[in-house]
Parts: sequence; C-alpha cells; structure tokens
Amino acid sequence: MTTTAPEGQDAAGRVVVALDLPAAAPALALVDRLGDACTFYKVGLELYTAAGPRVVEALRERGKNVFLDLKLHDIPNTVARATARAGEQGAALLTVHAMGGPAMLAVAAQAAPPSLAVLGVTVLTSLDGTALEAVLGRPAPDMEDEVARLAALVRDAGLHGVVCSAAEAALARRVLGPGAEIVTPGIRLPGGAVHDQRRTRTPAEAFRAGASRIVAGRMVTSAPDPVAVLRRVSSELAAAGPSRP
Ligand code: C5P
Repeated sequence: MTTTAPEGQDAAGRVVVALDLPAAAPALALVDRLGDACTFYKVGLELYTAAGPRVVEALRERGKNVFLDLKLHDIPNTVARATARAGEQGAALLTVHAMGGPAMLAVAAQAAPPSLAVLGVTVLTSLDGTALEAVLGRPAPDMEDEVARLAALVRDAGLHGVVCSAAEAALARRVLGPGAEIVTPGIRLPGGAVHDQRRTRTPAEAFRAGASRIVAGRMVTSAPDPVAVLRRVSSELAAAGPSRP
C-alpha cells in the first residue's frame, strides 16, 4: 500500500507539529491556522509548564491528537502515576527517559491506558560522546551501541517505541521490530534552515529509514506560510512509501 493522504493533510497523523511556544494563546492560534492540515501536535516542557493540562484539553476539543513530550524520569511510582494522569488527559503519546531504568519503564507501560503509547527517549541528541561518558562513568565509544542497548531496554520493558534521531531510525527499527512507534525529530525539508539541529533528515529520508512519525518543529512554526510547508511535507511523504505505525 502506498501513502494516499490528500495533499495538504498530514498523511494520517504521521506528521506531528511541535508546539514549542511560550503560552496557550499562540499555540492554539497556530493550531487554528493549520486547521485540517495537521491532526497531531507535540506539547513539550515549555508549553506544558506554561499552560498545563488545559492546553491538552483545548487540543482534544479541536479533535487533535496530543504527543505529551514530558521525558519523565523519576522513581517508578511517580512515573506510573504521571503516566496514568497523561492517559486521563487524553494524550496519545508520552515520553519517558530510557535511562530511568527497567522498573520505571515497565510500570510506565503498565500504567498507560490502551489509548496511550509510551515512548522511550534513548540518548538525548544534545549529548555527545564526551557528555555521555561523563553521565555513564565509563567509556562509550559507539553512540549507536548505546542507542541500541537502550532501545532493547525499552522493548523488553513493554513500551511502545522510541524517540530518536532519524539517523538512528533504521537501527531502532531493527531492535524494536515492525510494529513499534519510532518518532524522529530533527526533520527539515531539502535546503531548509537547520537551526541548532546537527544531523537533520528530510521527511522522506526519515520514513525510508523506518520512522513511523516525524516531528516538525521550527520548519513549520517559524514559516511565513506554515500550511504551505505542511503541503510540501505531505508531498515528500507521498514519495516515501508506506506507513509503518
Ligand atoms: O524545531 P525543531 O524541528 O528542531 O524541533 C524539534 C522538536 O523535537 C523540539 O520540540 C525538540 O524538543 C524535540 N526533540 C529533539 N531531539 C530529541 C528529542 C526531541 O529535537 N532527541
């Protein structure tokens, strides 16, 4: 089956627009401007800290799916309870840090209602080899090995998938198998500004590598015509082949 999303729509929720904005008002203004062109939104730490569960509710009232990117990392009981609350708020995706450990990951998976997929963050893309060695207290010569190791931890704990760089999507797909969610940020259209991302990929490259969804941040939120950008992304997706949710 090939992708048949109508032009200008987000290929059945495979494009998640990151609402990295300081308050609910500008975030919802963007959502309303994008209209039917996007059905899936990522609420991260900035917007959730500023606007709280009310912004999730406002998105749900507009019929949108919500990726709550809170990167939880705490004792298992606290993470389990926070995961349950995210499920009650109607989030469809939630992130936890894989480095929280097997027990924390397992209880997050168990606390999630069927409507909520919990994703593990493997190695933050902001960590280079030196920083990772400082955190782990041991040599970490190969970043891919670390990502694969943590992806296996996520898989074995029963989580639904990972968030990782598109550069690591193929590796994550090999570890997690065909049904897992692999969500990749750091996406740019060909020739687009890369901002502070280091290893960007195009939408087509990300899906070819095995991503199930991509996160579109500043390439949409900073664009003079965000609907036109999403239209270009959808055209790229149409060329990328079948979805792998
Ligand atoms: O604007 P840009 O497309 O770079 O935004 C990417 C989004 O994905 C941001 O919300 C950022 O926090 C998030 N993210 C990331 N790298 C990760 C995990 C999440 O850039 N490893």
